[in-house]
Amino acid sequence: MKKTVLITGASHGIGKATAILFAKHNYNVIINYNTSEDEAKKIEVDLIKQGANALAIKADVSRQDEVKEMFGVINDTFGDIHVLINNAGISSQKLFTDVAEEEWDKIFDVNIKGIFNCTQFALKSMIKNHFGKIINISSIWGLTGASCEVVYSATKAAVIGFTKALAKEVGPCNINVNAVAPGVIDTQMNKNMSVEIMCDLKEQTPLGVIGTGEDVAQTILFLASDNSKFITGQVISPNGGIVI
Ligand code: NAP
Repeated sequence: MKKTVLITGASHGIGKATAILFAKHNYNVIINYNTSEDEAKKIEVDLIKQGANALAIKADVSRQDEVKEMFGVINDTFGDIHVLINNAGISSQKLFTDVAEEEWDKIFDVNIKGIFNCTQFALKSMIKNHFGKIINISSIWGLTGASCEVVYSATKAAVIGFTKALAKEVGPCNINVNAVAPGVIDTQMNKNMSVEIMCDLKEQTPLGVIGTGEDVAQTILFLASDNSKFITGQVISPNGGIVI
């Protein structure tokens, strides 16, 4: 039986690379997006052309009503999902003293409440089916903290706490919950970083490269597979050695 994966924030970057990789590995792929409709639809069309089952669905993960609607469409199209990848995320770089309350709320709403919303809906069928894989995308900054990214780092540390606690709670239901904490990856998220900062981060990385979306997608694929069936509550960090 084909498994179905929902990847939040799959219109760009790590989520897009993950959608492409899972389609290659014979999953039914749901490409969630919020604002990038054209990009998401193009991924859907390309994957279908390659023989995969794919569906792009708009939902702002921070809005429970939109997430509920998305799960309704998924159920009607593919039935229950087997793998949930909580990938959608936003960041901002500024001094903590310049962060406005609305910005704090917005980043927590997408990066944390989004995971709460999607995971609650996904768990309904996973618990009933006694099977599921939940993979939450954290960051090395959730492990170490990043200057000028205090809010982002706090959300990504929260992703790790969420992952560990939920893994304990739903392990008896045969549901694995893990986190992936990528290092510096070449995506839109880092496009506003200066060339100097990117060069500096590359130099700090023992393997001497900036990661790609596919580097992260391969780790996610492993965590969704039977090869990792004894792994739960863990944080795996594809980061080129920048954090050891
Ligand atoms: P990206 O290229 O900026 O892509 C972000 C994705 O998140 C987009 O597809 C975007 O969709 C989606 N998104 C944003 N807000 C959303 C919302 N409210 N509802 C649904 N989708 C939403 O970023 P990325 O680098 O691939 O990041 C993916 C994940 O990896 C994030 O959680 C990020 O924190 C994490 N991460 C990234 C790096 C890195 O260096 N790039 C490192 C560590 C961790 P739309 O465009 O359709 O709105």
